[in-house]
Amino acid sequence: MTIAVYPGSFDPVTLGHVDVIKRASRVFEEVRVCVMKNPKKHYLFSEKERLAFLTESTKQYSNVMVDAYQGLLTEYVRAKNARVVIKGLRSSGDFEYEKQMDFFNKRLAPEVETLYMAADNAYSVLSSSAIRELMTFGGSLDGLVPEVVLDAAAKRMGGKA
Ligand code: ADP
Repeated sequence: MTIAVYPGSFDPVTLGHVDVIKRASRVFEEVRVCVMKNPKKHYLFSEKERLAFLTESTKQYSNVMVDAYQGLLTEYVRAKNARVVIKGLRSSGDFEYEKQMDFFNKRLAPEVETLYMAADNAYSVLSSSAIRELMTFGGSLDGLVPEVVLDAAAKRMGGKA
């Protein structure tokens, strides 16, 4: 069974992430979406919220599971007997960054292969940071994030989502 891991911060999950998850779920027998916890990072949404948003927005894909992990991605991947890491690519900037990550991950776990999935054109400029910025200024998130995030954001912005 080929298990793939899709790691990220997902602060919050966007429709771009959900699209990658959906496509990966058609290719691999199991997809483990992993919310990576970095104690040095400040998140807008708590880990519990980020997990809940992902669980809700991927519930229609029966072979998708959602986890959180603090530590090296390669350790998580090995613990789950996964062989593949999925990364979404929006731009050449994403690729340059991922190339560096891949170099270090390959040193730590040469048996793990990173596969890249081109972002859907509709979401190729969409990022969690843009969503957080829109939230700061009360901009509409319609068509950019799953329903569950729309609702949570509306609550935070006092009904302005
Ligand atoms: P972001 O870069 O939006 O803050 P994450 O760190 O949570 O998001 O990203 C997790 C993974 O999803 C990365 O591989 C990233 O390149 C990919 N990704 C992020 N947004 C999109 C998108 N709109 N379409 C496809 N892949 C994406």
